[in-house]
Amino acid sequence: MKRRYRTCGAATHDSDIPECFRKRARGDLPLGHAHSAKADNKGLSQQAHYDVVILGAGVAGLLLASELSRVSRVLVLERNERPAVTKYWVTTEEALTRNADLASAADWALDSMDFIAFDGATYRSEGSYRLWNTTALTCLLLQRTQERGGVVAFGQTFYSYARGRTGLTIMANGERITARLAIDCMGHQSPIIMAEGCGRIAGYYLLHGATFPMTGTLMPVALHNLSLSEHAAYVEAFPTSDGQLHIVLIIPARELRPSTNLSAEFEFVVRKSPYSKFIADPRKRSFLGGIIPVVRIKRRALDRLFFYGEAGQVHPAASGTALTRMLLSYRDVAAFLADRLHHDRLAASELSEAPGKIGRLNQAIQLALFRDILQWSSRRFRTIVVEADRLRNHQLMNELFFGDFDTTAAGVAMTLRTLTKARNWTLLSAFAGGVARAITT
Ligand SMILES: Cc1cc2nc3c(=O)[nH]c(=O)nc-3n(C[C@H](O)[C@H](O)[C@H](O)COP(=O)(O)OP(=O)(O)OC[C@H]3O[C@@H](n4cnc5c(N)ncnc54)[C@H](O)[C@@H]3O)c2cc1C
Repeated sequence: MKRRYRTCGAATHDSDIPECFRKRARGDLPLGHAHSAKADNKGLSQQAHYDVVILGAGVAGLLLASELSRVSRVLVLERNERPAVTKYWVTTEEALTRNADLASAADWALDSMDFIAFDGATYRSEGSYRLWNTTALTCLLLQRTQERGGVVAFGQTFYSYARGRTGLTIMANGERITARLAIDCMGHQSPIIMAEGCGRIAGYYLLHGATFPMTGTLMPVALHNLSLSEHAAYVEAFPTSDGQLHIVLIIPARELRPSTNLSAEFEFVVRKSPYSKFIADPRKRSFLGGIIPVVRIKRRALDRLFFYGEAGQVHPAASGTALTRMLLSYRDVAAFLADRLHHDRLAASELSEAPGKIGRLNQAIQLALFRDILQWSSRRFRTIVVEADRLRNHQLMNELFFGDFDTTAAGVAMTLRTLTKARNWTLLSAFAGGVARAITT
């Protein structure tokens, strides 16, 4: 493992929360900070106006806010009292090289990640990966947005919107805010996507985990099907340079069911499983987790409304590795949106042309693979691990992991040939299923 960048430590206790987050928790960024305001008889409060309202201050919302606030009046509305730092992120190294100005938020450079079956069979994928420091990245983007004149309002829950002739009216808490363009970055919680029929849910990854002080040395684990089961669940474990271990239990699920008892299974992982010996004190922890939706997106935009991040399914569906695609695309997407704002070309058909979209074929392959993953038993996952190890084609596995297959006719033919030659039947069926679906739909 190579370490190239210094990082600021991840927040493990409330007292560790960086000042840039705490300030916002006190609510000292009132909406009244709007650039123009007029009395509104219909609303309950003053009506503020912005060029762009971004819904959700997750990484997607903050990436776009940090860029768009250079050229437009931007307001970000976030439901939570402060940014969520309950996620951590692996990307390709390219995501950092293309964003050298974000280097202070980068953590380890990794050159391998393990995929481990229930009986210990292992595929070690090799590549150039980069782990990010969630807290540092969020802090940096918040700071940039503000320095460039953007407003980030915490504790503001978006609940509805109305369409007018020259803009949208966004309703959040007691506020009515008009905007020429709204960007939905609310992730799986977006009420707009489903209500407006813009996507169909294929399923979710449910993630429950924690960050602990680490003891010993552990190589990065991408997926470990620790417990033998009819429906495989996976442990993901990444050490970071600040001596912390991030462990998450991941369950693919077709539906969100409250009965899924992730937390009890996670306690087994941290207190009794082989991972317990890498945890200095299981009581000293901070929560890590969330829900990653897998959606077949039908529309990337409505008039004056653009979907980005998980809400826009920017990421490859099966692997939940959204940050790579976001980091590779957000500047182009922001420049595109700024241009459309400038020329007032904000119809759905115009906005849908935004760059950064996962290709149709890659999306179909990823969706086919995710449908397969929903059915995986421990045995089937083991077959995948063994096949991947036999294949020894790290480039292909990385293309799969980051949703970036070569989808030219020659590229598809080559992948099919490679998988067939290596008798990689499981991956071949998902790949061919995706190709067939992309051709027929
Ligand atoms: C434990 C874990 C590990 C992960 N590991 C990786 C990884 O290694 N690599 C990778 O690429 N990806 C990883 N991911 C996925 C990655 O974290 C997500 O894809 C990414 O955070 C999505 O960003 P987003 O901004 O689109 O959505 P979110 O991060 O979900 O942000 C949405 C925001 O919108 C806010 N919001 C929701 N509803 C409203 C409302 N009504 N009004 C106002 N605000 C609202 C939410 O509070 C939230 O802050 C991981 C996820 C988890 C949970």
